[in-house]
Amino acid sequence: MTFDQLGLHEAVLKAVSEQGYTEPTPIQGAAIPVVLAGGDVIGIAQTGTGKTAAFTLPLLTRLAKSKAARGAVRALVLAPTRELVVQIHENVAAYSRHLPLSVATVYGGVGERSQIAALRAGCDLLVATPGRLLDLASQGHGDFRDLEVLVLDEADRMLDMGFLPSIRRIVRALPRDRQTLMFSATLSKEIEQLTSEFQKSPKLVEVGRRSNPAETVEQSLYECPHNLKQAMLTHLLAQPGWDSVLVFSRTKHGADRICRKLAKSGVEAMAIHANRSQSQRQRALESFRSGQARVLVATDIASRGIDVDGITHVVNFDFPDQLEDYVHRIGRTGRAKATGKAVTFITSEDKQELRRLERMVGKALPPLTRPEGFDYEAATREAFSQKSEDTAPRQQRHMRGPGHGRRELEQQQKQQEPPRKPGQWHGGRPQGGASGGGGGFLARRSAGRGRR
Ligand code: AMP
Repeated sequence: MTFDQLGLHEAVLKAVSEQGYTEPTPIQGAAIPVVLAGGDVIGIAQTGTGKTAAFTLPLLTRLAKSKAARGAVRALVLAPTRELVVQIHENVAAYSRHLPLSVATVYGGVGERSQIAALRAGCDLLVATPGRLLDLASQGHGDFRDLEVLVLDEADRMLDMGFLPSIRRIVRALPRDRQTLMFSATLSKEIEQLTSEFQKSPKLVEVGRRSNPAETVEQSLYECPHNLKQAMLTHLLAQPGWDSVLVFSRTKHGADRICRKLAKSGVEAMAIHANRSQSQRQRALESFRSGQARVLVATDIASRGIDVDGITHVVNFDFPDQLEDYVHRIGRTGRAKATGKAVTFITSEDKQELRRLERMVGKALPPLTRPEGFDYEAATREAFSQKSEDTAPRQQRHMRGPGHGRRELEQQQKQQEPPRKPGQWHGGRPQGGASGGGGGFLARRSAGRGRR
């Protein structure tokens, strides 16, 4: 199949070919004709499959056919994180470069002024995070009364982040007669519920089996006690071909700690997580994209929207809290048609979750192995001696040394593995979204149509 068979606008086709895309990816081939036909679509596709172009190319084709009324927003894309918003905006800018369409973004963590000005001016396409959009809309900014198309990108993630109330309030203010496209990595009960709430007889476009990790990614599971994780990472980073590596940490502090330790061993690494400002996050991404930093350490939330081509390896330093994140994480490598590798460190406590993960993806993952050339005993000794240096009183230090007290080493190793709190896997979902917004301003405006 080629792009010109899909019915896209000529100017869009030109931009696509300038991007170097020669043929549509499966989700593009399946979704573009359905979106162009004007119906609602639920697209089940993991990140890295080309899903952004799957909805933006037909969307731009539709928008190119008529012109916006001044001051109004014609199409709205909601996405869970600012990184993803920036990313979608970059793609849209590339695909619409030969079209006279205006595109604006709205997301938190930066000043509101330019965003308010953009909403006042109106735009053909707005890409936004729900929290900031609701904030601004509640202050009376943005005219959505003639909105033609709504896209919910990474809808599963927006639910996880607690955005549902904000999304509901935004959607209530939109015309009922609109096209709604929803994309999600998995088709869960919650997503099906969302579909019935926001869509009209949607067509399901599913690429690959549900919840299955991207097939281009080669996965390995390495047995790794907590206290050997850093040593194992350093060992892997010394192997040939580990050129662009994304490491996942469960916590923000953990991400910083991994970075600090990598820096000590001479590896350039940057961290990206919610405690970093927007400009720090952008800098970290740029540095990683340009190859200046070989390693990017991220938490799950912050990793959304990281679109860097050519990531050779993903390392799950910590097992994901939410099983669905496994799919998102490993989808960061092996994007489009490239192949990639994903490595997961498995502690004794992760084994039960691992079995649940296998049930979720519907097949057995590769067996637990040990990385080639990694000396567990030497690494344990090293970890023990480092720990002793950090904590032991001076007079005890002379007792350390190769071969000293194996049982003690094992004991120490056990003690260093902090037990996970009960319910930690599934509790504590990050809260995002609905900041402020008092009193349904959006709903009032949509009912009253007062401002024109
Ligand atoms: P996405 O799944 O939207 O995050 O896209 C993943 C990557 O695939 C992005 O870097 C896109 O630029 C790239 N891409 C999208 N469509 C195609 C295509 N038809 N051929 C080659 N690369 C593509």
